[in-house]
Amino acid sequence: MEKRNLTDLKTMIRAIPDYPKPGIVFRDITTLIADRKGLRASVDELIWPFLSGDIDYVAGIEARGFILGGAVAHELGLGFVPIRKKGKLPWRTIGKEYSLEYGVDTIEIHADAISKGDKVLLIDDLIATGGTADAAIDLIRESGGEMVAAAFVVDLPDLGGSRKLKDRGVRVHTLVEFEGD
Ligand code: AMP
Repeated sequence: MEKRNLTDLKTMIRAIPDYPKPGIVFRDITTLIADRKGLRASVDELIWPFLSGDIDYVAGIEARGFILGGAVAHELGLGFVPIRKKGKLPWRTIGKEYSLEYGVDTIEIHADAISKGDKVLLIDDLIATGGTADAAIDLIRESGGEMVAAAFVVDLPDLGGSRKLKDRGVRVHTLVEFEGD
């Protein structure tokens, strides 16, 4: 019988040195999600802590968080809420500015996507410094939502993002880690 484990998932993630700039190792999940077993196993592993959970919505961060978040929402039988880059959502929005390594960016959510007391699971492909997820959590909480947990395929623990989210009282679920990035 063929077995799968999380080491298999890790080997399916392509490492691209010096992208998008020198010194960064880009962890490319396109090779993972192009593999039929890789995509299935990633979604299965992302959802298992939440199968018996009390969640109302899955929110995903543009763009790789849409691929995984849509599949997670479908598997959990929930609706999906997109969190997008500034100017992409057509209805009334609330936005949050966050810091990147160079400069700032803004993400937005539809102002009526989440109602007071809705329980939300946040999904993205990877957590590094946590700046993006931190801003997404602000948007969900400002919408009145309750942040149940955040789940990512990849954690870069040395950059401190998952620690930062835990310090804000958010449960964090990650599948594989790359240390030293
Ligand atoms: P951060 O806000 O620093 O936690 O960065 C997380 C966001 O940037 C996620 O949406 C990731 O897709 C992307 N990202 C940051 N660092 C990397 C990396 N080394 N490889 C791939 N994606 C990354």
